[in-house]
Amino acid sequence: MQHQEIDALVIGAGFGGLYQVYRLREAGFSVQGVDSAPEVGGTWYWNCYPGARVDSPSYVYQYWFSEELLADWEWSQRYPPQPELERYLNHVADRFDLRKHFSMSTRVDEAHWDAASARWQVHLSNGQRVDARFLVCCSGILAEPQIPSFEGRDSFSGTLVHSSRWPREGLDLKGKRVAVVGTGATGIQIIQSIAADVAELKVFQRTAPYGIKMRNPTFDDAARDQWRARYPELRETVPNTTSGFEFSALYEEGVWPTLSADERREAMEKIWADGSLAFWVGLAPEIGADPHANAEVADFVREKIRARIHDPKVADMMTPTTPFGIARVPLENGFYEVFNQSNVELIDARANPITRLTPSGLVAGDTEYEVDVIVLATGFDASTGALAAIDIRGTDGQSLRELWANGIRSAMGLQVHGFPNLFTVPGPLSPGSALCNAATCLQQTVDWVTDCLKTLREQGHTQIEPTREVEDAWIAHHEEIVAMTLFPQSQSWYMGANVEGKPRRLISYAGGVGEYKRQCDELAANGYPGFDIR
Ligand code: NAP
Repeated sequence: MQHQEIDALVIGAGFGGLYQVYRLREAGFSVQGVDSAPEVGGTWYWNCYPGARVDSPSYVYQYWFSEELLADWEWSQRYPPQPELERYLNHVADRFDLRKHFSMSTRVDEAHWDAASARWQVHLSNGQRVDARFLVCCSGILAEPQIPSFEGRDSFSGTLVHSSRWPREGLDLKGKRVAVVGTGATGIQIIQSIAADVAELKVFQRTAPYGIKMRNPTFDDAARDQWRARYPELRETVPNTTSGFEFSALYEEGVWPTLSADERREAMEKIWADGSLAFWVGLAPEIGADPHANAEVADFVREKIRARIHDPKVADMMTPTTPFGIARVPLENGFYEVFNQSNVELIDARANPITRLTPSGLVAGDTEYEVDVIVLATGFDASTGALAAIDIRGTDGQSLRELWANGIRSAMGLQVHGFPNLFTVPGPLSPGSALCNAATCLQQTVDWVTDCLKTLREQGHTQIEPTREVEDAWIAHHEEIVAMTLFPQSQSWYMGANVEGKPRRLISYAGGVGEYKRQCDELAANGYPGFDIR
């Protein structure tokens, strides 16, 4: 059995893991990466379902660390499709010679903290044992599929697939009868991409989403040059904005309620026309906090949605009833028009819950729907799921899975008390868990972790762990902010509500990306107060 002693083991070869391995290697640490996928790409490897694309603009969904990379990578459009993002991450792996550091098709079976040596003892599925000073988990926020436990799941004789486990060789849906379960960001992309090709499409919707119409211009050289000219500015400003995008709120706190109804309408139309997530996170802070402000925006989006659907009964079903923006707001491109097609049927899976699968289809309410393919676009056990799937044990053999089963805890989403030298990139209760352009928060956290490890090394230390007190203080601060928002009403993965038995807590810090970065930087500058360093 191979045994390896290294400074850091990095879990994940996606956007975060590739960068983490690069930064630690450049800083002179011995580092190994590991990923269960056969190829690099993380999210962009796994989510190869039809229509998958990013809804952060390419010019802020990229690495900032290399001038050469910024100069030579050519984005094709504002919101590139999955194959382009996968190509980008493969290009980065090649350009910076990162593949040699990764064991692919390899999972971490267990990682146990050994207090005597102050190191992580890690068992990999390829039989390798790794003895690592630091364990850096870039295992993905949306990596662990959430598959409903429908009765008779194995009896279905057709094809049953979760969106994030789409066959790499593709799935021919032409002329097939297809059921899609779920209308979150993923279900929307699949539905709008396959509707024209399939014979019949049955869409099972439980909660109607607030889809925002995406505007996705393709880029020519002139457009790319324009964005490139802004890269130096974006690199500085994006990490300090509220959501890690290229914009902050159009109206600062306090202004929105002072506008007239006409002015607010005009502002909504203007930002709607941008066809981006700015409508959700870039309008005014009151919308996420004040029920009246929220209701006005919700009505505006409802009106936009209803105008696109011909059948009033279907329009009723597709009109969201929850507050606006307390669950992830998806961008869509032709999703609503799909329901005007004669081969598409929308089924209310709230009134008629799916109870079981049968050899020929699925049963919702009293009706059996016969289909050839069932697509589960049913989401993920977010943020904590990928780590809880590993047997991680900290001080005194404490299990991370069991700890989080009793309540989601973390110190700034960076570390967890009882788990020295374990870093989560990004972890629960940090903005990167949901309320951030992922590329921004991943890079911020990787940079912070790298600097932390360098500081420990410079000072001759080998161990860092948050105290219980500093973790409690972070949770209290987190909850105080959550209480000022409408998020507690969310029944989505944001609150852990999509996984049975998962403790409810907003998974993401809601105090803003820039503010979070400021606090992280301050923590490091002050010598990590509240952290036990040895
Ligand atoms: P999701 O947002 O959690 O949506 C899951 C969907 O499945 C919901 O509509 C849910 O209904 C439904 N569902 C779950 N169990 C069900 C059941 N038993 N019966 C009927 N319906 C059921 O998951 P997702 O769409 O995969 O998206 C997850 C996240 O990935 C997004 O929020 C986003 O952050 C990210 N994402 C991003 C992009 C992008 O950048 N373009 C694309 C895709 C995904 P309820 O809402 O009623 O629970």
